[in-house]
Amino acid sequence: MSKESLLECLNPQQREALLYTEGPLLILACAGSGKTKVVAHKFAYLLKAKKFPASSILALTFTNKASKEMRERVLSLTGKDIGDSWIGTFHSQCSRLLRKEIRPLGYKTDFSIYDEDDQCTLIRHILREFRFHEALYKGVAAKISSLKSSLIGPEEFLSTGDGFGFDEKLAKVYLRYQSELKRCNALDFDDLLGLTVTLFEKKPEILEKYRERFAYILVDEFQDTNYAQYRLLRQLGSGGRNISVVGDDDQSIYRFRGADVNNVYRFEKDFPGAKVMRLEQNYRSTQNILDVAYAVISKNPTRKPKKLWSGRQGGEQVFHCWLADEEEEARHVAKTIKELYLKGEYEFNDFAVLYRINMQSRSVEEALRDEAIPYHIVGAISFYQRKEVKDIIAYMRLVLNRSDNVSLRRVVNSPPRGIGAATLSKMENEAKKKSLSLFEVIRSAVKANGVTSAVKEKLEGFIQVIEQLASRKYRTAADLMRDIVEKSGYRECVDVERAENIEALIASSHETDLRDFIDRVSLFSGLDEPAKDKSVSLMTLHGAKGLEFPVVFITGLEEGVLPYFKALDNQDEVSEERRLFYVGMTRAKEILWFTGASRRKLYAKFQDQQASRFLADIPKKCCCWIEKTKAPQVSRAVRPGSDSKKPAFPYVAGCRVRHPKWGVGVVRDCYGDGEEQKVMVNFPNIGIKKLVLRFANLEKI
Ligand code: ATP
Ligand code: MG
Repeated sequence: MSKESLLECLNPQQREALLYTEGPLLILACAGSGKTKVVAHKFAYLLKAKKFPASSILALTFTNKASKEMRERVLSLTGKDIGDSWIGTFHSQCSRLLRKEIRPLGYKTDFSIYDEDDQCTLIRHILREFRFHEALYKGVAAKISSLKSSLIGPEEFLSTGDGFGFDEKLAKVYLRYQSELKRCNALDFDDLLGLTVTLFEKKPEILEKYRERFAYILVDEFQDTNYAQYRLLRQLGSGGRNISVVGDDDQSIYRFRGADVNNVYRFEKDFPGAKVMRLEQNYRSTQNILDVAYAVISKNPTRKPKKLWSGRQGGEQVFHCWLADEEEEARHVAKTIKELYLKGEYEFNDFAVLYRINMQSRSVEEALRDEAIPYHIVGAISFYQRKEVKDIIAYMRLVLNRSDNVSLRRVVNSPPRGIGAATLSKMENEAKKKSLSLFEVIRSAVKANGVTSAVKEKLEGFIQVIEQLASRKYRTAADLMRDIVEKSGYRECVDVERAENIEALIASSHETDLRDFIDRVSLFSGLDEPAKDKSVSLMTLHGAKGLEFPVVFITGLEEGVLPYFKALDNQDEVSEERRLFYVGMTRAKEILWFTGASRRKLYAKFQDQQASRFLADIPKKCCCWIEKTKAPQVSRAVRPGSDSKKPAFPYVAGCRVRHPKWGVGVVRDCYGDGEEQKVMVNFPNIGIKKLVLRFANLEKI
């Protein structure tokens, strides 16, 4: 694509943002205004027109999937090979950098990367050791992660007394956790960011090298950066360097993971001379959807006002339907999808069903299955989280990094080798006393005859497998994985399904380099799973960030679900829930449905639900309110002033009617007010018809 045509498909504001290539730039713009598009086009422009080498641009995206899309877009725009470019998430690019540079921090470059699951395993191990309440591991892991993403190390935390929510036990666990990671030569996700910042601080010459290398920095979804990420950007991008960040403060939704929307507001101060630009045209949604989304988000007290308009004027009203319970809600969603699909205007992959919490997917899945609608869940337990896959990865990590105690503990008895808990605990103590890795201690115990001959044989078998694997040079990840399943005896101990998954894992490595493959797998998240063709997408609102679909359903619009009950006592958190709702609404291009239910099973208990407070902010004229249950809550909460006058419908969904021409049909929906009351009826041989009630001449049967 030529330079001219690169610019042609952008509007004047977008073009200006693309052509602004000197110094810091903040593009603060609403959903669907082309921020991500501008980032990709700018990358292409820098390569094509400005002749920047691909390796001199650092482009940071929120998910690995988004980086893959960015790579593909840049490639198709420029036709250039960008294999060595630095496009990726903060985590993946930091890991790439640390693999080369980490030595001064006392780690080896073959460090293991621990994901959340490994992190929790290690924290449980430490809690057990301290005889603290092991069941609390998730909360402890979250707290430690939040301290780390704010760059508060264990020593600093210890010295803070009552600061940062100080807790003596937590400090003890944090300290041990960090020293265990180091002993394992392992980094968790927060370390990937935090240690890069530390490295740049301690070694200014390394920082300088990368400041020189990156002639341009591009950042998407800037509003969800945490403190460590922001520090990193300042290190690399301060001093008037070329950095463009794009974001929308209304879409900051990862506070619980340490994201700080204030990074958007501080940018101008911390990057002096920064230019701020706006993009105001939305290309994604109809004006009606935008009006609804805007009405809701504008109630957030601290936001910066922004203009937003769509080139797609008008559009259908958004729909709201209140149902008796979650099963009915799910059936309604499934049936509506089916109806729209049968009309032939949409494919199944045009639909997304969004929800606040994962457990809401169960009833939706069931209803979709009943209607034989294909679907997939985005961000569910990923393939890479399966036990057998994690086991093979743990073997690989141990082969590459023998200090990795977490991986050793995982595989030492997998397949079962009969190495007992007492033996292992003895080895653990010894390792701690001598500051050695578990692997080394086991190996010396075998050599020094420090254990009985029966135990020795078992331990020796394990050590030999790992040493044998480690002594070979493997060109690809697939070669090593094949050897692992054969030599370790793993293949014999798994059933057919698991064996097939292992084969799929090997096949997915596509002859990749060993290290690249392990890093990719370690950094993979459920959100990176590619969407399935011709199938409805189900995901949480958090997972929907950056995506778009012609038809979107947001389910569970109830107090306690959206906004989530844990957020209700805190104004800032309610604001974040409102942003989350806003993110959900702005995913929709053409049709947007809201649903809620009077009764829902939440955390093993049935609860009576009230309509979400956010619905009350939707302008009445923009929304078509459909009632399928007599639940009083919704009418009061969401139809200010209108319900008392509204005549009741003579029909409810599901009842049978006769039409003079089309015969018998089943009522699907009743909606609209007064003279405009309409019914949607499915006539078996005709299809679905929308009829104005007063002209329809229907007879109830
Ligand atoms: P979000 O805030 O949700 O991340 P965004 O600002 O990143 O949204 P994009 O995803 O880049 O927006 O763009 C939204 C949609 O609008 C995409 O389908 C994109 O192709 C389209 N689009 C953006 N700019 C233009 C344009 N100038 N002409 C035509 N379509 C455009
Ligand atoms: Mg985007």
